[in-house]
Amino acid sequence: MMGIVSLVFLLAGLLFPSPPLNAQSDDPITIGTITGQIQAPNSFLPFTEYLESRLPEHEFEVEGFSTIDALIRAVKDEAVDLAFITPVALAELNLEGELRVLATITQPAGETFSPWLAGTVFTRSSKTDIQTMADIRGRKVIALSELALGGWLSAVRDWQELGINIESDLESVDFQFSYESVIDSVCSGASDAGVIAANTFQNLASRCEESLKILPPAMETGNIDYPLAHSTRLYPEVAFTLAGSNNETFVRDITRAILDIEPGSDIARSVNIGGFTAPLPYTEVGLLMRELRLGPFASVGELTLRQYLDNNIYAVTLALILIIVLISAGLLNSLSLSHKFRNSENYRKSIFEGSHIPMVIVDQHQRTFIDMNIAAVKQYGYQNKDELIGKSLTELSAPDQDINSSIADAFEQYTNKVLTTGRATFEWWHVRPGGEKWLAKIHLMAFESVDGLRIQSTVEDITKQKQREEERSQLEQQLEFSQRMESIGRLAGGIAHDFNNLLTVINGYSEILLEDTPKNEPVARILEQIKKAGNRAAELTQKLLTFSRRQAVHPVPVSLGMIVEDSAEMIKSVLGESIALEVELQDADKKVFADPGQLQQVLLNLVVNAKDAMPDGGDLKITCRESIVSPREASSLEIEAGPYIEMIVSDNGIGMDANISKHIFDPFFTTKDTGTGLGLSTVYGIIQQSLGTIRVNSEINKGTTFSVYLPETDVEQEIQEAEELLINPELKSLSIMVVDNEKEINEYTSSILQKAGHQVIAAESGLEALDLIASLEVPIDLLVTDVVMNGMRGGELAELVSKQYPDIPVLYISGYPEDALALHGIQRGTESFLAKPFSPGQLLNRIHQIIKNPSLA
Ligand code: ADP
Ligand code: MG
Repeated sequence: MMGIVSLVFLLAGLLFPSPPLNAQSDDPITIGTITGQIQAPNSFLPFTEYLESRLPEHEFEVEGFSTIDALIRAVKDEAVDLAFITPVALAELNLEGELRVLATITQPAGETFSPWLAGTVFTRSSKTDIQTMADIRGRKVIALSELALGGWLSAVRDWQELGINIESDLESVDFQFSYESVIDSVCSGASDAGVIAANTFQNLASRCEESLKILPPAMETGNIDYPLAHSTRLYPEVAFTLAGSNNETFVRDITRAILDIEPGSDIARSVNIGGFTAPLPYTEVGLLMRELRLGPFASVGELTLRQYLDNNIYAVTLALILIIVLISAGLLNSLSLSHKFRNSENYRKSIFEGSHIPMVIVDQHQRTFIDMNIAAVKQYGYQNKDELIGKSLTELSAPDQDINSSIADAFEQYTNKVLTTGRATFEWWHVRPGGEKWLAKIHLMAFESVDGLRIQSTVEDITKQKQREEERSQLEQQLEFSQRMESIGRLAGGIAHDFNNLLTVINGYSEILLEDTPKNEPVARILEQIKKAGNRAAELTQKLLTFSRRQAVHPVPVSLGMIVEDSAEMIKSVLGESIALEVELQDADKKVFADPGQLQQVLLNLVVNAKDAMPDGGDLKITCRESIVSPREASSLEIEAGPYIEMIVSDNGIGMDANISKHIFDPFFTTKDTGTGLGLSTVYGIIQQSLGTIRVNSEINKGTTFSVYLPETDVEQEIQEAEELLINPELKSLSIMVVDNEKEINEYTSSILQKAGHQVIAAESGLEALDLIASLEVPIDLLVTDVVMNGMRGGELAELVSKQYPDIPVLYISGYPEDALALHGIQRGTESFLAKPFSPGQLLNRIHQIIKNPSLA
């Protein structure tokens, strides 16, 4: 039973700054011990009741701890006042601070009780090849536990003195934390010899049918009178120590009380001991520990393999991984096992240093960098390690992160997470010394290093990846938006088209009725209302038609800057006094190809919205400038790359959130009580038709910026290009009749044709054209006419002209989309058609085609 006790009582206590035990205290005096499976807690009762009868002013309790560590913690936390402490733990602790031993316990030994313990090394009596302790070389040995004094350490010390190294000289060592198993293993022959405390051996030897023998001691055991056969030197038993108090009265009383306990009595047996005796010297235990380099002596020399593993589990795990890698590389043959272990640190280092993955080691307390590889130094934008060591992640952070808390809080949170859960991953914006911002994905991992917990951090630069992701999602959103606008446009356009027809009838008849009704009749007022409502409906329909791009356009080369300038006075009067207007015009000579009236409509809609967004006044800025759109920007803007004129209308009003800005271009979407929701949809339609695009940027309470991009046009250059294309001997100078009642378009078209070397006869109406043709001396080769004109329409004119020139080719130009032209009697395919807006090149090309192949026209 002695072995049981030495283990069960293996405990420690150290450096207790203890408050004096208060005699009047209500708190019971706690005695710490370790509970084995054999001991039920209430069986301590005889012991505590005895103490209470001897020290009636105190209550006692025995507290059993299931592990040594738990008891040690309790001793250090002063959660116990007295404790049973094993010799090994005591010797170790006494190096740091003297622990007061009140008594040494005794255990049954033969017929008597002894405060000494010793180990036995035993084997089967039939094993004649093992006679002495020295014969253990090359044998298979089994023992109780590597921490048991009688059951292992005492033997190890004596062997060491005989020059036997248990790691290299024994064939194997096996530990079985069961006395019976140790005996049985030797008995069955599975082990050659066993180590167990002498008193345990005495109790259990009879288990084995074959007789067992104990090897005689190799060392001098002195003149101590120990009754049992044993193989090792003798050591004192478990100490009963004072863990909490230096109250001398209490110390004297308790010591007297325990020394008075009858050896072998129920009181003693209730705490699993034989009895108590005056304290023995524990010097021999200290010597053992020093020689075996245990506990605080561990660092004096090499450790046992087991201890090495315990202390270096991280490095060893890494080394094992490396060994596996090496095996597969076929390199293992050249390396012995121990060699690999010795070099594992080198491998670890070279993997760390040589890796192209940036890695940093972070101190768990300061949370600063204590080491890193070259890849990390480069990644952070530094030249060498020294510049980075001692820095913390927060110092390298960019000021704005995608986090809710402050940088310091977030960082604290991540490091706490890694220290509690072992891992943490997060994204973090950094800034390099040069100011460059970059985004990292950081993987934190906690590991146990030789000198405490550390955090390893791998740092992956994901700036580009993130950028691509964002671009992609932006493109997706953009695509979704334009698809939505496209389908809404079709729907709105279809409805508007039908409404237009219905309104023509409604408005037409209400007008006729109104004319036929005397003004003083009551029904006249009603008709008046119908007509008004009908007109208003027609206006709305026009807007819808614009949105769906079914509105006629009359595009010409025009300067956006000039339009802004011309509208400035009107804008000021719209804005009123409380809004300051700033206009900045650059590159005003650069032109776009668009309908000036529509551009003005765009500008006005944006200005009116800005005004509505600044009910309490504010600043409105309108900027026009040239902007070269790169191929990359072009794809995200969904336009072609090249030179654009950008018009920016920017206010500092109420702004809008993402939910609103998603829908602002939808027809009828409005957040205003009296809004129509058609302003921006009209703007959108116009800009799309002019091959441009519009972008919005808004922030609640900060303001809104609309940017309109329209492609720049260079008339001179286009004509020149077209002319080069037209250098063709068979294409003589033609005489062309141009008819358009839109003066600007007329001039634009004529000037293109003239510049290309043609003779142009221009007319602003069908009738004028017919007159001119009649008076002409030279025949005309081609008629270019607008489709929808006041008075005579393009179709009618062509028909009349063809009476005089039966084969004359006709080119219709129109602001109406082709499908709308059927309304005006133009059949696609039988006549040539060119949609406005057209560029000079497109016009000249089309004419070229017609002349070469008149059947087209
Ligand atoms: P309406 O002006 O009739 O409401 P719009 O199509 O012009 O219709 O605008 C649609 C919606 O877009 C507005 O109701 C408003 O919510 C939002 N909006 C447009 N421009 C601005 C702006 N400059 N600031 C804030 N919100 C705006
Ligand atoms: Mg509006």
